[in-house]
Amino acid sequence: MVQDRWEGLSAEMPMKGKPTIVRCPWMRKGYCMNLFGTLWARDTSWIDRNVINHERIHTAQMRELLFIPFYVIYVLEWLVRLVLYRDGHKAYLNISFEREAYRHGHDMKYLTLRRHYAFLHYMRSDR
Ligand SMILES: [Zn+2]
Repeated sequence: MVQDRWEGLSAEMPMKGKPTIVRCPWMRKGYCMNLFGTLWARDTSWIDRNVINHERIHTAQMRELLFIPFYVIYVLEWLVRLVLYRDGHKAYLNISFEREAYRHGHDMKYLTLRRHYAFLHYMRSDR
C-alpha cells in the first residue's frame, strides 16, 4: 500500500490542511513558486511534506512583511548576493528567506516554535 505523502501533515503542522497547488505548464520542471501562499508547479509528483513545510515558512515570512515587500526584499537581496557571489544559484540559496526555509524545511514543528521575523537572523552571511 502506498503511503499518502500528505499523511500526518495537518497533525504536525500548525496551519491546517495543505496549501493550494496550481499546475502551471510553463514552470520549470522540479521548481515551485509560492505566490501569496499558493504554490505553482509544473507537476506535483516531487512535492513532499518537506517542500510544503519550506513553502509554509515562506508564507509565514510573507505574512509578516504584508506580502508585496517580501517579494521586493527577496529580489533586492538576490541582486546584492549575486554581486557578492557572482553565482545566481548560490545567491538564491543565501537569500535570508531561503536560508531560514532550507534550514528548517524538514522540521514539521518549526512553525509552531518560530519567532516572528526569524529570517532577520539569517541576513548575516555566517548563519
Ligand atoms: Zn524557498
